[in-house]
Amino acid sequence: MTNIRVRFAPSPTGFLHIGGARTTLFNWLFARHHKGTFVLRIEDTDEVRSTHDSVDAILDSLSWLGLDWDEGPAPGSFDGSGWKEKGPHSPYFQMKRLEFYNKYKDQLLSEGKAYRCYCTKEELDAMRRQAQLEKRPPRYDGRCRTLTDAQRKANEAAGRAASIRFRMPDDGATVVPDLIRGDVSFENKLLQDFVIVKTGGGPTYNFACVVDDHIMEMSHVIRGDEHLPNTPSQIQLYRALGWEHPQFAHLSMILGPDGAKLSKRHGATSVLEYKTQGFLPETMRNYLALLGWSTTDSQQLFEAKELVDRFDLEGCQKNPATFDPVKLLWMNGTYIRKMTPQQLSDAAAPFLKEAGLDAVAPDALSKAVSLEIEKTKLLSEVPKLVDFFFKDAVYDPKAVDKVLKGPVPMQVLQKLGDALKDFSPFTEKPLEERIRKFCADENLKPGQVFHPIRVAVSGRTEGPTLFLMLELLGRDKVIERFELARKQFATAA
Ligand code: GLU
Repeated sequence: MTNIRVRFAPSPTGFLHIGGARTTLFNWLFARHHKGTFVLRIEDTDEVRSTHDSVDAILDSLSWLGLDWDEGPAPGSFDGSGWKEKGPHSPYFQMKRLEFYNKYKDQLLSEGKAYRCYCTKEELDAMRRQAQLEKRPPRYDGRCRTLTDAQRKANEAAGRAASIRFRMPDDGATVVPDLIRGDVSFENKLLQDFVIVKTGGGPTYNFACVVDDHIMEMSHVIRGDEHLPNTPSQIQLYRALGWEHPQFAHLSMILGPDGAKLSKRHGATSVLEYKTQGFLPETMRNYLALLGWSTTDSQQLFEAKELVDRFDLEGCQKNPATFDPVKLLWMNGTYIRKMTPQQLSDAAAPFLKEAGLDAVAPDALSKAVSLEIEKTKLLSEVPKLVDFFFKDAVYDPKAVDKVLKGPVPMQVLQKLGDALKDFSPFTEKPLEERIRKFCADENLKPGQVFHPIRVAVSGRTEGPTLFLMLELLGRDKVIERFELARKQFATAA
């Protein structure tokens, strides 16, 4: 394939959600696989709902996911009046492209392929209600198609604002050749003369999208299947304007684990929320790639480059995909386990900072992190897993109740504390030998000794391998915490 050009065209009316991120990823992978161009176009024609913050959130989300674009606005470049943009088709904000829509609207009007419609909202509502009563599809009945000049003038004199409607064919069918679904046929009599320019003068999505996809030379339009019903209208527009349409690929719907369309009630839908929760962008890319695409051997884990190499539209399915948070979490753990402790501490830096652990020496941090890397599933868990190495232990009352209650644990802490005061070297193996000998000498089961040690030094019943943990804490801290625990919890006896 030559000259592949694809785009992601979000409406900036909210955050970037999972579905939008999946659409972006598939376009990006397709462009990168074919050494084509990936364009980001902002479809801000809904003037009421489009916001500056949404544009920023979308750019930030894509940057976090590592999905770069070749043309479009630059992230973080807003200077008070607009974004810096790159690419030969700038501007990439639709509200700055009105001249193009006006030009093609005039062309369609003058060729009789579009017409002015003066129907008011009330009239259109009544039309819809009537259709419902008669159990017909609620489509515009075409009453303004054949207005005479005199009728038009009268409407205008009466102060009625006109929208511009595209004249759809009455009969026959429009076939959408879809690269994922094959040919999908729509009966024209069920489609309506849709508005291309609103009464206020702004273009509608279906119109602006066609004009821009043509001018921006899109070879493929890859988008969510909620847009499939728009595609026959768009194909008719391409024909009326004398243009060839791009190839279409409509991606499968994404469902939640309960089989309902993925929505807020299934948990986070905003991509940046996953960042906040501690997911890695690599995980998100890998996981999102599997929502509606697979290889013939059903591979699950992909290196970044491998995804680009193996992705193609042939692997896309039309059946709905299921978003499974349990699998996503598993995958994040898998990605974390592939990291070095240093990489994990770097990736977890914002979370460590939030927990006040940003001043810890990187070496010490990496050592502590290395003890817990196998267990970590989210970056946000890192501070909690290692904080007791660097801050005072926070005692979990349940752990204290279960493990430090009674005379035996208190004696263990006292006697063992004495025994370890001058013990050297304070490293894993010798410590293990010494503490096991202590158990034998005192006639105690290992559990009666190990558990109190763990809770006394860390405040909790679970954590890294005991003797390595002691080694890393160092003798002074271990002895100090034994004493602290004794003072604090002796009354619990
Ligand atoms: N602005 C549309 C949306 O956000 C884009 C649809 C398309 O890709 O054509 O859903």
